[in-house]
Amino acid sequence: MSKVYTWDQLFSRRQFIKGTVATAALGVGATAGIGLLAPESSLGINNPAQTPAKGVKYVTTICEQCVWRCGVIAKVENGVVKKLEGNPNHPNNLGKLCPRGNAGIETMYSPDRIKFPLIRAGARGSGLWRKASWDEALSYTAEQMKKIKDKYGAKVMMFNSTDNLSQPFFEILLKAYGTPNYGTQRSLCFNSMTTGFLYTYGTPQPGTDFSHCKYMIFSGRNLAEGISNNETQEMIEMVAKGVKVVVLDPRFSKTASKATEWLPVRPGTDSAFFLGLIHVIIAEKLYNETFVKRYTQGLEDLVTEVKDYTPEWAEKKCEIAATTIQRIARDFAAAAPAAIAHPNWRTSNFVNSFQTERAIAVLNALMGNWAQPGGLIPDQEMSTAKLGVLTHPPFPPAQGIRLDGVPWQYPMVPLAYGVIQTMRDNILTGKPYEAKGWLISRQNPVLSIPERQKTINALMKLDFVAVIDIQASDTAYYADVILPESSYLERYDGLVPIKNKIFIRQPVIEPLYDTKSCLMIYKELADKLGLGEFLPYKDELDLLSQQLKPFPVSLEALKSAGHYEVENFKEDHSKDFEFQTSSGKIEISSSIMAQMGKKAVPTWNEPPRPEADHYYLLTGKTAQHTQMFTQNNRWLLEVFPVNRAWLHTSVAKKIGVKTDDEVVLESEVGKVNIKAYVTEGIRPDCIFMVGGFGHVSKGLKSAYGLGASDSALHKTVTDPISGGSALSETFVTVTKA
Ligand code: SF4
Repeated sequence: MSKVYTWDQLFSRRQFIKGTVATAALGVGATAGIGLLAPESSLGINNPAQTPAKGVKYVTTICEQCVWRCGVIAKVENGVVKKLEGNPNHPNNLGKLCPRGNAGIETMYSPDRIKFPLIRAGARGSGLWRKASWDEALSYTAEQMKKIKDKYGAKVMMFNSTDNLSQPFFEILLKAYGTPNYGTQRSLCFNSMTTGFLYTYGTPQPGTDFSHCKYMIFSGRNLAEGISNNETQEMIEMVAKGVKVVVLDPRFSKTASKATEWLPVRPGTDSAFFLGLIHVIIAEKLYNETFVKRYTQGLEDLVTEVKDYTPEWAEKKCEIAATTIQRIARDFAAAAPAAIAHPNWRTSNFVNSFQTERAIAVLNALMGNWAQPGGLIPDQEMSTAKLGVLTHPPFPPAQGIRLDGVPWQYPMVPLAYGVIQTMRDNILTGKPYEAKGWLISRQNPVLSIPERQKTINALMKLDFVAVIDIQASDTAYYADVILPESSYLERYDGLVPIKNKIFIRQPVIEPLYDTKSCLMIYKELADKLGLGEFLPYKDELDLLSQQLKPFPVSLEALKSAGHYEVENFKEDHSKDFEFQTSSGKIEISSSIMAQMGKKAVPTWNEPPRPEADHYYLLTGKTAQHTQMFTQNNRWLLEVFPVNRAWLHTSVAKKIGVKTDDEVVLESEVGKVNIKAYVTEGIRPDCIFMVGGFGHVSKGLKSAYGLGASDSALHKTVTDPISGGSALSETFVTVTKA
């Protein structure tokens, strides 16, 4: 019988790289105080004239410490990665890396990496594992998946992945398998933004031209802490140039601290602010009449709707002074079309957030900022080089309805985004049918979906769970098989076209352990499932060559330069003003909303308020961690070791605590102990915590036991239109521990 290991035996404490790094190396206190570091010229990475020292090489690749895909140049000395720097040729980061990007070396050399395939050897969640070969682990996974499909049909097998470069190949695998059940993290993030813009402009996520913008309003986008590298840099440059930047946030975030104006809005009432702006802009005829007439439909309905949304009315709702709303409306309109109400990401935390996003989308339309310098940028896809595509047989029709309620419960949610919290709930209810298996690639539902215990119960209920990850995430902890992926510095992924350039992620060293890229895990699993023809490549290089086929460049040349620039490339703006809506125009009054029997123009929906002695629970990001994926990185833990509960000084005084005292937060669904951080920088009716701490996996040895998880407190509340998870509709009490 093969040996059974515990997590302690699987992960030795031997350290490959000393786990201590100067905080400066992570960018703390660097550019604009938000931690973006430019390359060090002393390394010579960006100086082609400088010959690398003996045993040293520089390899260009793409970061994966978050989803932003910045360009990286790795300094490799005698087979050891010594330094990562930003690639100045990459538009996503303009030569700089954020703290997480700098700490990618530690992610790879972490002693907690899963070093070979594991098959569960005790009860699920017992932490007992046995080592398996790849052939055994993949055969076992394929057998279980086939057994489930043969007995119950493909639909009872769920597939989950998140935004990453191998995701398109994961989607091919699940479609070839034949299940309709696909989950992403989108409904936990920005479903209200994507649906709000989709039903206004016909595109879910327009870009924003920061460089020419003269007036920016953020309400749910904390770029200084939720870093999107080039956009964060551009936002800081805007501030430095004296551009007006207004931030609505109940908390004094780092972005608020950089802004020209911080408005501590009452949670859930941003739409009142935007409706108030629209009221002033319409009443004073400050909108772009020519643009509105030519490219939009439904202004008359909006005029009627916002008649009563005066600044005085809005002040009562959002607690921003009516005079401030009037001033901002006038100044914003005066800056148009170089004025943007940012689409945001996380304005998604209330059921009414879809209406907030609709109001934001419509406000932009009134400014006529579409495809104008300093305004919203149309979908970039038309103006991006097209890769070669794999040819495969047609997919079998997916049988059955989806467990996440799309579209039968949520008719307006795009299929590609789904509603993962409902998928989890329906595993538990067994309605409309019993789910049996879950293949989860690089996602951590246990810590991301509200009501953590429910997610654990859902995993425990299934016949089979397989997880692909580089470390023992909280979800991998409850798996039957863990298929270990190579870290992003050890593997290839699909190519990345950005406008006229094509970038490559490639290994900067050989894999340290018996791990594989997802490209090969999906391919080999497909082969064992008898679905190999859907992923028609021999290996990663064969796949990349097929993607590169339309271009006159060799893979070797691409690898060597790190990117290829398409010659004579012309941006295609011919369809910039062809809106993919029912009317072909920007829909101030949405045809689809009207068809669904809903209010067709942006409207006000009163959000719930906490009762006495209860507080809004707000969650968000820090610049030093990515969601729940980097807390086990020891370098990042040195600079952000634990999350704490932000309490207003008046609240702290009332319950008798000071900073670093332990408090108990309790919601309807859970209770956590967490240290307090006492500050004036938050509204007295709110408590804030950074998400991603409070791991349950004992395989994450550095992060285990640190801080508390917001997923243990969050209630599951879903917006029926966008499917977004209304996280901030959870209220908590706070007491001294
Ligand atoms: Fe990496 Fe930071 Fe860029 Fe994300 S923003 S890809 S973590 S450097």
